Order: sequence, then C-alpha cells, then structure tokens
Amino acid sequence: MKYDIAIIGAGPGGYLAAIRASQLGAKVVLIEKDKIGGVCLNRGCIPSKTVLASLDRYNEAKKFSEFGINIDNLSYDYKLIAKRKDQTVQKLGKGLAQLIKSNKIDLIIGEACIESNNFLKIISESDEKTVEFENLIIATGSRPVSLPNIKVDHEFTLDTDDILNLEKLPESVLIIGSGASGIEWARIFSGFDKKVILVEIAEKLSPTLDSAISTALERMFKRKKIEFYKGTSVEKIEGEKVILSNGKEFSPEIIFLAAGRAPNTEIKGIESLNIEMNNRFFKVDNNLRSNINNIYAIGDVTGIFSVAHVASHQGIKAVEHILLNKEADINYLNVPMVMYGNPEIASAGYTENQLIAKEISYKKSVFPMSAIGKTLVEDESDGYIKILANEHEILGIHVISDNGAELMQQLLIAKSAGVSPEKLKDVIFAHPTYSEAIHECILGLFEESLHLPPGIKLGI
Ligand SMILES: Cc1cc2nc3c(=O)[nH]c(=O)nc-3n(C[C@H](O)[C@H](O)[C@H](O)COP(=O)(O)OP(=O)(O)OC[C@H]3O[C@@H](n4cnc5c(N)ncnc54)[C@H](O)[C@@H]3O)c2cc1C
Repeated sequence: MKYDIAIIGAGPGGYLAAIRASQLGAKVVLIEKDKIGGVCLNRGCIPSKTVLASLDRYNEAKKFSEFGINIDNLSYDYKLIAKRKDQTVQKLGKGLAQLIKSNKIDLIIGEACIESNNFLKIISESDEKTVEFENLIIATGSRPVSLPNIKVDHEFTLDTDDILNLEKLPESVLIIGSGASGIEWARIFSGFDKKVILVEIAEKLSPTLDSAISTALERMFKRKKIEFYKGTSVEKIEGEKVILSNGKEFSPEIIFLAAGRAPNTEIKGIESLNIEMNNRFFKVDNNLRSNINNIYAIGDVTGIFSVAHVASHQGIKAVEHILLNKEADINYLNVPMVMYGNPEIASAGYTENQLIAKEISYKKSVFPMSAIGKTLVEDESDGYIKILANEHEILGIHVISDNGAELMQQLLIAKSAGVSPEKLKDVIFAHPTYSEAIHECILGLFEESLHLPPGIKLGI
C-alpha cells in the first residue's frame, strides 16, 4: 500500500497531523511503537495534571473551615489518586483510538525503521511490514535521560516517567531543575505535606521566565516553605547522601531529576537519509521540512519548543504544507508556555530582558491579583499580571496567579489577533471575575488602572 503521508509517532504531534491529513483527503498511515497519545497522554501532560486535580481538591478541603464548612479527619490516599490518574489516561487513550479509527487513519503498532526516502519497515512482535510513502513526517518525540553526574537508577534517583509511577509519596524529595516538571512536582509534593528541596543551576528560578515573575515565584516558594538553592548544582551523590556545590548535604528519601530530555532522533536506518541535524535535533525550515524534500519533522524532535501544543500545531502546519502547499508561517512569539506551579505561571512573547536586549521600545504594566474582589472571594490573591506592549500590539504576557494559564490565554488571543491595547481598553469584563485583572493591567499601560492608588508603581 502506498500512502500520501506516513507519520512516525502517535504523540500530540503525530496523531493530530494524521487527523488533519485525513480531513484533507490524504491516504495516511500512523505508526506507533508504544501507546497512542505519546508522552503527553501517557507520561506527561495528562497524568501529571490528573494528580494536580486531586491535590487541588485536598488543598481546597484544607481551607474549608475558613469558608465556614466543617470537615473532620481530612486525609488522602495516594494509591487511589494514582489509580484515578491511570483510569483517566486509559479513558482518553480509548477515546483517541476511536478518533483515529473514525478518521479512517491506518494505525500500525510497531517500530518504524527507515529503509529509504520512500519506504519504511515496521517491526512488531508478530510480523514485519513494508510501507511505501510519498511524504514522511517524523514525530518521534523525546525521552528522559540521566545527566553526566546524576545517574537515574529508577529507585533512589527518579525521572519524570518514574515519578508518575509512584504509588506512595516519599516523605522528602530533592528536585533537580526548576523547569516545568520541577515546579509542578514541587507543588505536588509540598501540597501533599512533604519536604521539598529544589536545586537550580541557573542564577534564578525557572530561568526562561521574565525575571520579575521568577522573583515573585521565589517569594511564594519561601512562603510555602519550599527550600531552594539557585546557582547550585549537585556535586555528587554518595549512597543516599546528596552533596551540593554550595557544600550543603541532604539525605532525601528520593531524588527527582526534573531536567534532561533527549530527542528520539536515533530511528533505525535514519543514517541512510543523511538528514541534517541542528545539534541533537532534526533541522527543519519554516515549513517543518528537513533538507530532504519529502521528509518533515515536528514536535520535540525539532527542539523548537518542547510542549504538546507546539507539536500539534506544527503537525497541522506540516500537513497543510504538504497537501495544500500552504506556508506554515508559525509565529513562535505567540506560543503559550505554562508551568503548573502553585499558583500557575504562564507566559507568551518577549520577556522584559529580551526587549531591552533587542532595543525594542515598550511600556509595561503590572497589576496585583490581590487588588480585585474575586481573588479575595476565592482566597487566591497571590500573584500578578504583567503586560509589555507598544502602541500597536502586546509584546509580552507574564502571569503568575491562580488560573494563570487561562488568564494568559485570553491576552494571547488578543496578541495573536493583533488587537491593540487601546482597543482592549474598551472590552467589558464581567464582575466579579479574575479576568478583571487583565482589564486593569491593560488600563495600567495608560496609567489608568482603576483599582490601584494613583502613582503606585509595582517594583516588578
Ligand atoms: C512530565 C511531563 C509533563 C508534561 N506536561 C506538559 C504540559 O502540561 N503541557 C504541554 O504542552 N506539554 C507537556 N509536556 C511536554 C509534552 O509531553 C511533549 O512536548 C509532547 O508530548 C511532544 O509531542 P511529540 O508528538 O513531539 O512526541 P511524543 O509525545 O514524545 O510522542 C512520540 C511518539 O513516537 C513514538 N515513537 C518514537 N520512535 C518511534 C519509532 N521508531 N516507531 C514508532 N513510534 C515511535 C513514541 O513511542 C511516542 O509515542 C510534558 C512532558 C513531561 C515529560
């Protein structure tokens, strides 16, 4: 059977590319060697957020008495939380299988090996198949790896896959790395009343964030008694003792290595293609095409942004380039990035330091979530919205707040659509909502915030 498009990997990049190709009438084959849904569904976004959903219920329940509700003997059973996580993943997996089937996509379970730039061999436990294709999309994703001096043994030192398989939480954890996974699990462990020590090699927490948000995050960590060390690395691990570069020693029950992933570029037979690389990643042009005309790469293997929504968007764009000859034209300044900390941290576009470095002129407005009624109603008043903009457009959005991801996304819709701050001033926001802080922050660009005393400038 000859396919218009063959796709290797059924993660959020690959399966959405397959659906789009099928919508456009192409004959498409999707090849997956493990479980459909990839890292995102099985070992990433979905299972971790399901654990967070349980954590949120637990933490809300801890505050019930403040809201006038009495509850005795509050406790949690992590085994049941883990079970719910697995059930959620299974349920979504079944739905996805149905979706793939209903789109008439040929799904082959097996390992794809490259034979040439028109043929794949698919090896499964029971047989081997050859697939002929016109175009190939590589969406093979990434995997956790050990760091040179930190070997993951899956017992004392765990990676992101292992951490999701825990059936019982340890009493103490040392987390290495303050990227999305480090921040997320610092929230989970500390929220479930466990001791957390976080080590970050960079001079600030979550180094890719706008500096002001990173500083706000530090203040929140301190309040939540999460011990953290910046500009610090793990010097060595001796038995169950961890020695840091600042001389401090800890004996946590586990170490969680939340840094270090490698792209799955070592596909069998890939060397026959002479595909160009960009360091460890497949090099692609603006249309996600490699140096070989009929071979594209999307998602984590490109190393552009390692998040599910970028993989999906790239998948759709690659397919549209193949089938419609439509330019992909992806504006990576409109990519939303979220860290599911407590509270959520969400951003898109330039940080303030980037604007300064690029000598782009901008105005800034920072609005504290504590200044609107809804956050006090909910007792979730930590955090800020920070907007960087010029007269014509929003340049950067940085939010740290309960519901931060949703708040950022509202602003990102305006940013992506090129709506000017002046126009946004006239949007009517429902009261009382968290979103009112967006309006206030926009007004702040014109020094017209209504719920801040005149002349107040927040030092972030
Ligand atoms: C703990 C964790 C939490 C995360 N949380 C979020 C989040 O909240 N939001 C977010 O946007 N992103 C999140 N991510 C990142 C997100 O999961 C990835 O960016 C996304 O899954 C990448 O999609 P992909 O399609 O490129 O590859 P993947 O999801 O990695 O899928 C690739 C697939 O290819 C298959 N494959 C590989 N080689 C072959 C072969 N030779 N033959 C056949 N099949 C093959 C693999 O088995 C895999 O199923 C998280 C990641 C982790 C680890």
